[in-house]
Amino acid sequence: MKPEVYFSSIQGRSRSECFRELLNNMDGVLSRFKKGSFVGIKMTVGEKKNTGHIKPELVKILVENLKRRGARPFVFDTNVIYRGQRQNAVDHLNLAYQKGFTPDRLGCPYIIADSVFGTDSKTVKADFRHVKEIRVPSLVTVLEDLVVLSHITGHVMTGYAASIKNVGMGMASRAGKQVQHSSMKPVINASKCTLCGCCIESCPVSAVSELSRKAFINSNLCIGCGECIACCKFDAVQVHWHEDESIFAERMVEYASGILAHIRNKVFMDFALDITEECDCIAGSDPHIVEDAGILASTDIVAADKAAFDMLTKKTDIFSREGKIGVHQRQFEHAGEIGLGSTDYSLIEV
Ligand code: SF4
Ligand code: SF4
Repeated sequence: MKPEVYFSSIQGRSRSECFRELLNNMDGVLSRFKKGSFVGIKMTVGEKKNTGHIKPELVKILVENLKRRGARPFVFDTNVIYRGQRQNAVDHLNLAYQKGFTPDRLGCPYIIADSVFGTDSKTVKADFRHVKEIRVPSLVTVLEDLVVLSHITGHVMTGYAASIKNVGMGMASRAGKQVQHSSMKPVINASKCTLCGCCIESCPVSAVSELSRKAFINSNLCIGCGECIACCKFDAVQVHWHEDESIFAERMVEYASGILAHIRNKVFMDFALDITEECDCIAGSDPHIVEDAGILASTDIVAADKAAFDMLTKKTDIFSREGKIGVHQRQFEHAGEIGLGSTDYSLIEV
């Protein structure tokens, strides 16, 4: 039987009405979160100047719903590997509070799962094509109940990002994130480099330096985080898109599968609202490039992401920017190959 994907359209509804309608129609699904259970709500607040992320008022609607069931929800995220305010839990939490993700406004705590410096990282065995072990915060190894709230965006490496990315990358420890990025080894196209310095300043491991009045990447130091690709305005940082990024996408899918294998009850909610060309890790992306569609949800992570993708690609081609065509397709294909979920689904409009 095809997995069900619930869709609540934003047309004629406020955002809170749209989300409440979705949750009301998923009562049977949400009833699996029992009295007393600790339900982790995975989401991200995004970088400082990013405005497209899911807002605390919407998260609170879910928190209240879970609390009415007697569950003990908490919101969580992990630290990132690139430079910025989410690289450690102190700055990360301060940023979250500044953006309104306070316990008062959420109705529950906001937790950084992998400790102050992102060093809480356990290794769990896996058996995939690329990934033979996953590295995750210890919380992830004991979590039994999970709701993933994902803001749908474009993505500098995979073209499209929703729940698979939020889990595969977003629930890995910093060590796990680094492993997933390790196939990415960008190089500088010297003829395009203006030596603006952005990549040199933004590289978290000082792998970029100046050489003969151009930027130069030391591939022995590079951890493949993609920060230099995101910041270069001159298209001078280049990777082998189809090769490197497809492997990156496959690793991320395998990580998502390894992580979810240990979690009993899970629901994935994809917000097709304020869609941006780049993910929330990149500041200042314009959230108004695609018309809002609504919110989709499923117990099948692949079905949720694919249904949203199919819906949105009728309105925009931002997920298939030059170089990215095929990468998100590979993400879905590989997810099917390893049994993460189904690319086929039944859409239920609520
Ligand atoms: S960001 Fe681009 S243009 Fe600027 S120094 Fe780096 S490679 Fe050169
Ligand atoms: S060179 Fe680029 S991809 Fe490599 S670590 Fe530095 S910023 Fe990240």
